[in-house]
Amino acid sequence: MSEENRLGEEGDGWKILVDGLNFERNLFAAGMLGPMREAIRYAVNYAKRRIQFGQPTIDYQVNQFKIADMISKLQTARLLTYHSAHLMDMKADPVMEATLAKLFTSEAYGELMPEAIQVMGGDGWTRFYPVEGFARDSKGNEIGAGTSEVMRMVLFRWGLKAMAEDLKMPPRRVHKELGVPISTTKPSTIAQITEASVLEILARNYKVNPGLYMSRDDAKEWMQIEDDELDKLLESLEVKGLVKLYRDRRGRIALARATYKGLKKAKPLEYYQWFPDWVKKEKLF
Ligand SMILES: Cc1cc2nc3c(=O)[nH]c(=O)nc-3n(C[C@H](O)[C@H](O)[C@H](O)COP(=O)(O)OP(=O)(O)OC[C@H]3O[C@@H](n4cnc5c(N)ncnc54)[C@H](O)[C@@H]3O)c2cc1C
Repeated sequence: MSEENRLGEEGDGWKILVDGLNFERNLFAAGMLGPMREAIRYAVNYAKRRIQFGQPTIDYQVNQFKIADMISKLQTARLLTYHSAHLMDMKADPVMEATLAKLFTSEAYGELMPEAIQVMGGDGWTRFYPVEGFARDSKGNEIGAGTSEVMRMVLFRWGLKAMAEDLKMPPRRVHKELGVPISTTKPSTIAQITEASVLEILARNYKVNPGLYMSRDDAKEWMQIEDDELDKLLESLEVKGLVKLYRDRRGRIALARATYKGLKKAKPLEYYQWFPDWVKKEKLF
């Protein structure tokens, strides 16, 4: 292709493609709101006019519950879709919101249609009403404009980033009287940072989060230390077989925990054995 036919600036292709995805997802979601409303409209009007066992089928609570669920799906889908569209109008880049609107609406659509048919009984399933056609289309909505699996991949990645502050591991300590791990807002920090104190922090972590590694951020809750300095101490402890390290794909230290040997060196065995008062001594193993 010659340069004069290029759209946009060189190197911007990916950005231009990705920018269009929010719009596509939002548009796809919006397109489902109409058939969802129509399905409810047909189901409600049908059930108001269908007499079975002496009363309209809309008077049976089982049908009312189905209609309530359909309404809640449609209204939630509308809120998500309008909210995402509003953010786009505000020139925001609503990756999460557009993805969520597409995912939720397509799955709600897929769940709503069989229920609408059920409320209408055998008639709902015939081509005399449009609802069976909506039901057939519903599967395509979970595939087109990005499959539900891809929507979940995007939500996982963006969600973790967007909620990073909310999802931080809570610092925990062992409650002095109860002897159980509890969340704490004030971790007792360590002033003197040595191999021994790093090992002690890992031992403490073992006590409150048994079996789990500590991340760099977890460790730094308890001590003021530069990353390089922490790495040096951890590497030195690793060489001595006192800690086990997990390195990320770039080879950086990501997680650390004390080995059995390290735990033994950090604290006496009794430190790790804590039980509530009500546990009788003779019951301990
Ligand atoms: C109604 C409808 C409208 C469409 N409109 C358009 C359009 O206008 N323009 C256009 O270009 N295309 C369009 N498509 C095509 C659509 O984009 C693709 O069908 C969709 O992206 C899925 O790709 P695929 O069919 O090749 O499935 P595949 O990629 O073969 O996927 C098969 C399954 O494997 C899963 N999968 C694949 N890769 C991964 C992974 N890495 N991790 C986890 N799961 C994975 C998928 O989620 C899916 O469940 C449309 C499709 C439909 C159904």
